[in-house]
Amino acid sequence: MSKRHAEIAGAGFAGLTAACALAQRGWTVRVHERADRLRTTGAGIYIYENGLRVLEAVGAYAEAVKGAPFAHTREVRDGRDRLIAVHRWTGSRVFSIVRQNVINALAAAAARSGVEIVMGSAAVGATPEGELILADGRRQKADLVVGADGSNSRLRDSLGLLAKRKFLVDGCTRLLMEKTAAERAGSDGGATTVEYWSGTRRVLYTPCSETEIYIALTMLDSDEAAKAVPVRREEWQRAFPHLQKLIDRIGEQGRYDRFDLIRLKRWSAGRVAMIGDAAHALPPNIGQGGGCAMMNALSLAVYLYRESDVATALATWERAERPLTEHAQRISYLLGLPTTWPPALRAFTLALAGRSKWLTAQRTRTALHRPTGT
Ligand SMILES: Cc1cc2nc3c(=O)[nH]c(=O)nc-3n(C[C@H](O)[C@H](O)[C@H](O)COP(=O)(O)OP(=O)(O)OC[C@H]3O[C@@H](n4cnc5c(N)ncnc54)[C@H](O)[C@@H]3O)c2cc1C
Repeated sequence: MSKRHAEIAGAGFAGLTAACALAQRGWTVRVHERADRLRTTGAGIYIYENGLRVLEAVGAYAEAVKGAPFAHTREVRDGRDRLIAVHRWTGSRVFSIVRQNVINALAAAAARSGVEIVMGSAAVGATPEGELILADGRRQKADLVVGADGSNSRLRDSLGLLAKRKFLVDGCTRLLMEKTAAERAGSDGGATTVEYWSGTRRVLYTPCSETEIYIALTMLDSDEAAKAVPVRREEWQRAFPHLQKLIDRIGEQGRYDRFDLIRLKRWSAGRVAMIGDAAHALPPNIGQGGGCAMMNALSLAVYLYRESDVATALATWERAERPLTEHAQRISYLLGLPTTWPPALRAFTLALAGRSKWLTAQRTRTALHRPTGT
């Protein structure tokens, strides 16, 4: 039997994971990335046990986590630097990692598996019969087309698959900064991350390599002064006087993204499967957008390996995998609601959430899930 062939749009977490997993199961795979090189936006990322298992399964784990700290403790502090809650991650792994390192590790695993990656190749649509349509007008025929082209997916929209896209009230500017000598010499190796609140603004401080700190500044989308890039340091220092020195170190770089929630009518149309943010973007409150993207990319290849009829495999895959992703979306959305609450009520709720066994179980369910194919 001749090898089955897949065309994938998008070389992010989802597209590269699918490429590795399909190629490792006997497919020929070509990935089209519209950018002229493999680069990722968003500075740092938390990858929990579920995502780490997927990285192991596709052979990208060791390179992805090299030098990354094991981020097992998160402190939550109020506007006066008082500790509100401490979340400890015990019994399973979570790393905070420079995003580019994960993309590079996945791309290297894909290359080892024989995947072709075409840079500067933008996709504009797909047909249920299995054609990927490129911006230059070419049509690439395949047994499977994968839409992994992120939350503004052209493939998804060309197939009319979008059921709902909800832009949330908040967004975030992310950047990396160099560690100071004191941070490099820090005693806990970067295991503690801190989330500082002030009104509706938040600063998340995360060591993410031996030399870098990942900073995420979260604010309401309507807060023009706070979401400006380059970051207006004096604005943030007014909200966080105790973080003056840290904020002084923010340079000119940074990228703002508004949070959104995406839901599809179906995850596939004929021979086209949608994965990652294109199919199910979620706000980052439980750090699972990338985790779900990688889990669903790997499980897609597993279901197609078990069942040779593509339409049947895609339907079974969606039935089995979608409920957990929707759970992650629900929890992540709910955990974002306190952003607009009065500070006292928010502090009370966050403290309660930190202590509630039931809420903790809901929050960590996706991270602790053993992904299909691992
Ligand atoms: C503030 C913030 C913090 C986050 N923190 C975390 C976290 O800690 N942990 C976590 O797991 N997740 C986190 N996420 C979510 C995570 O970033 C996403 O879920 C993840 O990047 C989705 O991967 P993807 O491959 O689906 O999409 P993307 O990362 O968007 O990749 C899509 C790729 O497709 C390419 N592309 C786009 N259009 C086309 C086209 N037409 N043709 C060809 N190529 C195209 C793009 O250039 C890109 O390379 C966070 C998100 C935000 C906004």
